[in-house]
Amino acid sequence: MSINGKGQAGYFEVQQLSDANAARDKQNWLVFNCPCGCGKTRKTRLFSAGERGQGGAGYHWNGSRLLPSVEPAFGPLPVCGFRGYLRDGVWNGYGNGPELAKDCYSGGASAS
Ligand SMILES: [Zn+2]
Repeated sequence: MSINGKGQAGYFEVQQLSDANAARDKQNWLVFNCPCGCGKTRKTRLFSAGERGQGGAGYHWNGSRLLPSVEPAFGPLPVCGFRGYLRDGVWNGYGNGPELAKDCYSGGASAS
């Protein structure tokens, strides 16, 4: 797993990755630097409309690579306890987790 963005907090990419357990079609994953600035790179499987995770669980994705929305919210994430959500390419924190890093990335304008 790798990601560009020079380690900027909140930087994200939607990447197509293979399932580690089976030689299946590639799947969409959100790979991101934790928005709190703790330096962890994280990833989560995305499910588009019409797809479904086991038991209907999983993160639902609006299909946009540039300005993704992912539901439900993340967190608390391991180690740092960040809680937040990504909506239209913008991170938002919530609850009593750490705040967003001051230089937290937003999609759109700086993506190409
Ligand atoms: Zn963090």
